[in-house]
Amino acid sequence: MPGQLGYDDTPFLPGGKWRVHDGNRPQPPVVTPADVPGGPPSDAVVLFDGTSLDGWISVGGGPAGWKLENGYMEVVPGAGDIQTVEEFGDAQIHIELCEPEVVKGEGQGRGNSGVFLMGRYEIQVLDCYNNPTYPDGTSAAIYGQYPPLVNACRPPGQWSTYDIIWETPRWHDGLLIKPAYVTVLFNGIVVHNHRRLLGYTSHRVLTEYVEHPPVGPLRLQDHGDLVRYRNIWYRPLVGYDED
Ligand code: MG
Repeated sequence: MPGQLGYDDTPFLPGGKWRVHDGNRPQPPVVTPADVPGGPPSDAVVLFDGTSLDGWISVGGGPAGWKLENGYMEVVPGAGDIQTVEEFGDAQIHIELCEPEVVKGEGQGRGNSGVFLMGRYEIQVLDCYNNPTYPDGTSAAIYGQYPPLVNACRPPGQWSTYDIIWETPRWHDGLLIKPAYVTVLFNGIVVHNHRRLLGYTSHRVLTEYVEHPPVGPLRLQDHGDLVRYRNIWYRPLVGYDED
Protein backbone atom coordinates (compact mmCIF):
# COMPACT_ATOMS: atom_id res chain seq x y z
CA MET A 1 0.00 0.00 0.00
CA PRO A 2 1.43 3.45 -0.90
CA GLY A 3 2.59 5.34 2.15
CA GLN A 4 2.49 2.23 4.26
CA LEU A 5 5.51 2.48 6.53
CA GLY A 6 4.94 -0.54 8.71
CA TYR A 7 2.52 -3.33 9.43
CA ASP A 8 -1.16 -3.49 10.40
CA ASP A 9 -1.36 -7.22 11.01
CA THR A 10 1.10 -7.47 13.87
CA PRO A 11 0.29 -7.94 17.58
CA PHE A 12 -0.58 -4.95 19.73
CA LEU A 13 2.09 -3.74 22.14
CA PRO A 14 1.10 -3.50 25.81
CA GLY A 15 -1.48 -0.75 26.21
CA GLY A 16 -3.28 -1.69 23.01
CA LYS A 17 -2.55 1.57 21.19
CA TRP A 18 0.17 0.64 18.74
CA ARG A 19 1.07 -2.53 16.93
CA VAL A 20 4.58 -3.92 16.60
CA HIS A 21 6.14 -1.92 13.70
CA ASP A 22 3.02 0.29 13.52
CA GLY A 23 3.52 2.73 10.63
CA ASN A 24 0.89 5.11 11.97
CA ARG A 25 2.77 5.71 15.19
CA PRO A 26 3.96 9.35 15.35
CA GLN A 27 7.41 9.95 13.94
CA PRO A 28 10.03 11.24 16.38
CA PRO A 29 10.43 15.00 15.89
CA VAL A 30 13.60 16.07 14.14
CA VAL A 31 16.22 17.70 16.38
CA THR A 32 19.45 18.92 14.87
CA PRO A 33 22.47 18.16 17.02
CA ALA A 34 25.01 20.88 17.69
CA ASP A 35 28.11 21.11 15.50
CA VAL A 36 30.28 20.27 18.47
CA PRO A 37 29.76 17.79 21.31
CA GLY A 38 28.11 19.46 24.29
CA GLY A 39 26.65 22.28 22.22
CA PRO A 40 22.95 23.06 22.44
CA PRO A 41 20.84 21.07 19.99
CA SER A 42 18.19 22.84 17.92
CA ASP A 43 15.40 22.42 20.47
CA ALA A 44 17.46 23.48 23.51
CA VAL A 45 16.67 26.49 25.65
CA VAL A 46 19.99 28.23 26.18
CA LEU A 47 20.30 29.49 29.76
CA PHE A 48 23.85 30.82 29.50
CA ASP A 49 25.89 31.24 26.33
CA GLY A 50 28.81 33.12 27.84
CA THR A 51 27.83 36.57 26.58
CA SER A 52 25.35 37.83 29.16
CA LEU A 53 23.86 37.24 32.59
CA ASP A 54 20.47 38.32 31.30
CA GLY A 55 18.07 35.63 32.35
CA TRP A 56 19.79 35.18 35.71
CA ILE A 57 18.88 36.86 38.97
CA SER A 58 20.18 36.84 42.50
CA VAL A 59 18.26 34.42 44.70
CA GLY A 60 18.25 37.15 47.32
CA GLY A 61 16.70 39.60 44.85
CA GLY A 62 18.10 41.94 42.22
CA PRO A 63 20.51 41.28 39.37
CA ALA A 64 22.92 38.36 39.32
CA GLY A 65 26.15 39.74 40.80
CA TRP A 66 28.57 37.18 39.41
CA LYS A 67 31.50 38.03 37.15
CA LEU A 68 31.11 37.61 33.41
CA GLU A 69 34.28 37.31 31.32
CA ASN A 70 35.83 35.30 28.51
CA GLY A 71 32.69 33.30 27.83
CA TYR A 72 32.12 32.11 31.37
CA MET A 73 30.60 33.32 34.62
CA GLU A 74 32.44 33.13 37.92
CA VAL A 75 31.19 33.14 41.48
CA VAL A 76 31.70 36.42 43.27
CA PRO A 77 31.97 35.41 46.93
CA GLY A 78 29.29 37.13 48.92
CA ALA A 79 27.16 37.93 45.89
CA GLY A 80 24.99 34.95 46.77
CA ASP A 81 23.37 32.18 44.79
CA ILE A 82 21.95 33.01 41.40
CA GLN A 83 19.14 31.37 39.48
CA THR A 84 17.49 31.41 36.11
CA VAL A 85 14.39 33.47 35.48
CA GLU A 86 13.32 30.54 33.32
CA GLU A 87 11.54 27.79 35.20
CA PHE A 88 11.12 24.26 33.95
CA GLY A 89 10.25 20.73 34.99
CA ASP A 90 11.42 17.41 33.55
CA ALA A 91 14.52 18.14 31.51
CA GLN A 92 17.84 17.18 30.05
CA ILE A 93 20.33 19.73 31.36
CA HIS A 94 23.89 20.44 30.24
CA ILE A 95 26.30 22.47 32.38
CA GLU A 96 30.04 23.04 32.13
CA LEU A 97 32.09 24.03 35.14
CA CYS A 98 35.67 24.72 36.06
CA GLU A 99 37.27 24.49 39.47
CA PRO A 100 39.77 27.23 40.47
CA GLU A 101 43.26 26.61 39.15
CA VAL A 102 44.66 28.03 42.37
CA VAL A 103 43.93 25.26 44.87
CA LYS A 104 42.82 26.57 48.21
CA GLY A 105 41.15 24.96 51.22
CA GLU A 106 40.28 21.33 51.73
CA GLY A 107 37.25 19.08 52.03
CA GLN A 108 34.06 21.05 51.57
CA GLY A 109 36.14 24.23 51.48
CA ARG A 110 37.78 23.50 48.12
CA GLY A 111 35.97 24.65 45.00
CA ASN A 112 32.52 24.28 46.52
CA SER A 113 29.49 25.36 44.54
CA GLY A 114 26.41 23.50 43.45
CA VAL A 115 23.74 23.00 40.85
CA PHE A 116 20.30 23.15 42.44
CA LEU A 117 17.60 21.57 40.30
CA MET A 118 14.30 23.41 40.70
CA GLY A 119 16.21 25.56 43.20
CA ARG A 120 15.95 22.74 45.76
CA TYR A 121 17.85 19.58 44.84
CA GLU A 122 21.64 19.92 44.77
CA ILE A 123 24.08 18.13 42.54
CA GLN A 124 27.25 19.02 44.39
CA VAL A 125 30.07 20.92 42.75
CA LEU A 126 33.41 20.53 44.48
CA ASP A 127 37.06 20.22 43.60
CA CYS A 128 37.34 16.54 44.51
CA TYR A 129 40.65 16.00 42.72
CA ASN A 130 42.84 14.54 45.48
CA ASN A 131 40.50 16.11 48.01
CA PRO A 132 38.70 13.60 50.20
CA THR A 133 35.48 14.61 51.94
CA TYR A 134 32.35 12.80 53.06
CA PRO A 135 31.29 10.82 49.98
CA ASP A 136 27.74 12.18 49.77
CA GLY A 137 29.27 15.64 49.57
CA THR A 138 31.89 15.07 46.91
CA SER A 139 31.70 16.30 43.33
CA ALA A 140 28.53 15.20 41.50
CA ALA A 141 27.06 13.75 44.70
CA ILE A 142 23.37 14.20 45.33
CA TYR A 143 24.30 16.22 48.35
CA GLY A 144 23.57 14.53 51.64
CA GLN A 145 21.98 11.52 49.94
CA TYR A 146 24.05 9.61 47.38
CA PRO A 147 27.76 9.62 46.51
CA PRO A 148 28.52 9.44 42.79
CA LEU A 149 29.25 5.92 41.51
CA VAL A 150 32.80 7.02 40.68
CA ASN A 151 35.04 10.05 41.15
CA ALA A 152 35.29 11.48 37.63
CA CYS A 153 36.95 14.78 38.59
CA ARG A 154 39.41 16.44 36.28
CA PRO A 155 42.32 18.41 37.75
CA PRO A 156 41.47 21.96 38.82
CA GLY A 157 41.58 24.53 36.03
CA GLN A 158 40.08 22.16 33.46
CA TRP A 159 36.50 22.30 32.22
CA SER A 160 34.11 19.53 33.18
CA THR A 161 30.60 18.63 32.08
CA TYR A 162 27.44 17.66 33.91
CA ASP A 163 24.71 16.08 31.80
CA ILE A 164 21.61 15.64 33.90
CA ILE A 165 18.31 13.92 33.20
CA TRP A 166 15.79 15.19 35.68
CA GLU A 167 12.32 13.90 36.52
CA THR A 168 10.44 16.19 38.87
CA PRO A 169 8.55 14.90 41.86
CA ARG A 170 4.79 14.94 41.45
CA TRP A 171 1.96 15.51 43.88
CA HIS A 172 -1.75 14.91 43.64
CA ASP A 173 -4.10 16.41 46.21
CA GLY A 174 -1.14 17.07 48.47
CA LEU A 175 0.20 13.51 48.29
CA LEU A 176 3.53 12.65 46.72
CA ILE A 177 2.68 10.28 43.87
CA LYS A 178 6.14 10.18 42.28
CA PRO A 179 9.50 11.05 43.83
CA ALA A 180 12.19 12.88 41.88
CA TYR A 181 14.60 10.82 39.81
CA VAL A 182 17.92 11.93 38.44
CA THR A 183 20.52 10.53 36.10
CA VAL A 184 23.87 12.32 35.98
CA LEU A 185 26.86 11.96 33.69
CA PHE A 186 30.00 13.67 34.96
CA ASN A 187 32.52 14.19 32.19
CA GLY A 188 30.55 11.68 30.14
CA ILE A 189 30.67 9.04 32.88
CA VAL A 190 27.48 7.80 34.54
CA VAL A 191 27.61 8.70 38.22
CA HIS A 192 23.88 8.39 39.01
CA ASN A 193 21.53 6.11 37.11
CA HIS A 194 17.87 7.00 37.67
CA ARG A 195 18.48 7.70 41.34
CA ARG A 196 15.41 8.25 43.48
CA LEU A 197 15.80 11.31 45.69
CA LEU A 198 14.80 11.27 49.34
CA GLY A 199 13.75 14.91 49.35
CA TYR A 200 15.12 18.42 49.00
CA THR A 201 18.76 19.19 49.81
CA SER A 202 19.81 20.14 53.27
CA HIS A 203 22.82 19.85 55.58
CA ARG A 204 23.30 17.36 58.43
CA VAL A 205 19.69 16.25 58.44
CA LEU A 206 17.57 13.61 56.76
CA THR A 207 15.39 15.38 54.26
CA GLU A 208 11.88 14.90 53.00
CA TYR A 209 9.64 16.17 50.24
CA VAL A 210 7.85 19.46 50.58
CA GLU A 211 5.31 20.16 47.86
CA HIS A 212 6.34 22.77 45.31
CA PRO A 213 5.26 23.93 41.85
CA PRO A 214 5.84 21.60 38.87
CA VAL A 215 8.48 23.95 37.47
CA GLY A 216 11.40 25.72 39.09
CA PRO A 217 14.62 27.59 38.28
CA LEU A 218 18.13 26.27 37.89
CA ARG A 219 20.16 27.68 40.76
CA LEU A 220 23.94 27.94 41.13
CA GLN A 221 25.54 28.18 44.54
CA ASP A 222 27.91 30.80 45.89
CA HIS A 223 29.85 28.86 48.52
CA GLY A 224 32.67 31.40 48.55
CA ASP A 225 34.88 29.70 45.95
CA LEU A 226 35.77 30.98 42.48
CA VAL A 227 34.00 28.30 40.46
CA ARG A 228 33.25 29.07 36.81
CA TYR A 229 30.33 28.00 34.62
CA ARG A 230 29.67 28.09 30.89
CA ASN A 231 27.47 26.58 28.18
CA ILE A 232 24.30 25.92 30.15
CA TRP A 233 21.18 24.70 28.36
CA TYR A 234 18.23 22.41 28.82
CA ARG A 235 15.69 20.54 26.76
CA PRO A 236 12.24 19.88 28.15
CA LEU A 237 11.86 16.14 28.55
CA VAL A 238 8.46 15.14 27.25
CA GLY A 239 6.81 11.93 26.18
CA TYR A 240 9.19 9.55 27.94
CA ASP A 241 6.52 8.11 30.19
CA GLU A 242 3.73 7.96 27.62
CA ASP A 243 2.63 4.82 25.84
MG1 MG B 1 27.71 22.89 47.30
